[in-house]
Amino acid sequence: MTGKPDSRRLHHIGIAVRSLAEALPHWTEGLGLELESTDEVPVQGVRVAVLRAGAARIELLEPLDEASPVAKFLGKRGPGVHHLAFEVDDCQAAIDGMAAAGAPLIDRSPKPGAHDCRVAFVHPKGMDGVLTELVEEPRHG
Ligand code: ZN
Repeated sequence: MTGKPDSRRLHHIGIAVRSLAEALPHWTEGLGLELESTDEVPVQGVRVAVLRAGAARIELLEPLDEASPVAKFLGKRGPGVHHLAFEVDDCQAAIDGMAAAGAPLIDRSPKPGAHDCRVAFVHPKGMDGVLTELVEEPRHG
């Protein structure tokens, strides 16, 4: 796989909400998106509801506790778009590529994300104000 460029497709849009129970009907009953799954990601401090939106997904993020980065986001800015996530073939290689390009990184190595993905975050100050996530899907087979 080395030397092959990633597709870097939009993987999901993360949206901070105070309550999944309150937010979900807006997206399912209102907009008609299909709820794919829910998952807890303690290392990120969130409970995640994943909704299918064509080739990409919407992830609603509810903080697990007050120490969660999403809780801090909600306290400062209220509910809203929290981050954009792009799929990469190799999370560590993508991190190294971003670092070489001078991007300020939050994670210098991949962390466990929802559904056994490996993820890393790039600081918004290097991405025009948008928190950006790199997602490597688990290998199949
Ligand atoms: Zn995400």
